[in-house]
Amino acid sequence: MTLIDGKQTAADIKKEIAAEVEKMVAQGKRRPHLAAILVGHDGGSETYVASKVKACRECGFESSLLRFEDNITEAELLKAVDDLNNNPEVDGFIVQLPLPRHIDEQRIIEAVNPAKDVDGFHPINVGKLSIGLPGFRSATPAGIIELLRRYHIPTRGKHCVVIGRSNIVGKPVAQLMLHKGDVGDATVTICHSASENLSEIVRQADIIIAAVGRPGFVTADMVKDGATVIDVGTTRVPDATRKSGFRLSGDVDFESVAPKCAYITPVPGGVGPMTICSLMLNTMQAARQRNA
Ligand code: NAP
Repeated sequence: MTLIDGKQTAADIKKEIAAEVEKMVAQGKRRPHLAAILVGHDGGSETYVASKVKACRECGFESSLLRFEDNITEAELLKAVDDLNNNPEVDGFIVQLPLPRHIDEQRIIEAVNPAKDVDGFHPINVGKLSIGLPGFRSATPAGIIELLRRYHIPTRGKHCVVIGRSNIVGKPVAQLMLHKGDVGDATVTICHSASENLSEIVRQADIIIAAVGRPGFVTADMVKDGATVIDVGTTRVPDATRKSGFRLSGDVDFESVAPKCAYITPVPGGVGPMTICSLMLNTMQAARQRNA
């Protein structure tokens, strides 16, 4: 069994990006600039945004964080998005989700200029991903594909079962696994909460991508020998032994599943670090387009 080290892979990629940034700066071009909008004080969102700011530093990017209180109106948030759309100093930006209930999330996503939508959530970028055109790819799916590529895990002709059909993970990663060429060319099945005989279907998989949000959902009896298992799940479960009071739990029962696998990602340290890394790659791509 090979443990897929997302943390190390992400560190390698950030070094590659930093080297490209220094070359860019040496040529007199300005550094890539990623901005983030953070509404409210949700603990998870604060942590994610702090990690993104740290990753920007590691890559040599400029970063800016625009904070707003929970009571911001939709109109005020749309104005902030528009300002970033029109700011020539910003290459790409994200609006950290979730947003407070009184704000229409989809309306905000669609207000972002697709050319700066480094989260890849705008329908234009989702559509481009779907038909295989270049565009910004949703960060978690892109990170999973990069892990498969860097570990030379064969996907062509393999049966990939994706568990979960969300717009940010399940559906886009299934599309990417389906694309012709390089990492792709897989036979893809998507399972969800209405799927019948789910265990039986997952047992047929050469590659399992679990994006369910239920700790330990994938058990050893659902995994065939020699499978590759990508665990996207990150659920906070209470843990009194930790300073934070919680630990992150994946969707896979790692202890029992790992011995059966050819490759497996741990949680934490697997897909998570790659998600932030993909955001950095998308920002780099935006900066390259600006310079083209
Ligand atoms: P989501 O929007 O809640 O989607 C979960 C999916 O799992 C849904 O499609 C749901 O089916 C399916 N599901 C739930 N219970 C099921 C069951 N009993 N049997 C079969 N399918 C079931 O979640 P998400 O945003 O995709 O995230 C999934 C997990 O990945 C979460 O733990 C999240 O925290 C984590 N995540 C991690 C990263 C990272 O960077 N590591 C990034 C994004 C998400 P229905 O559609 O039928 O409801």
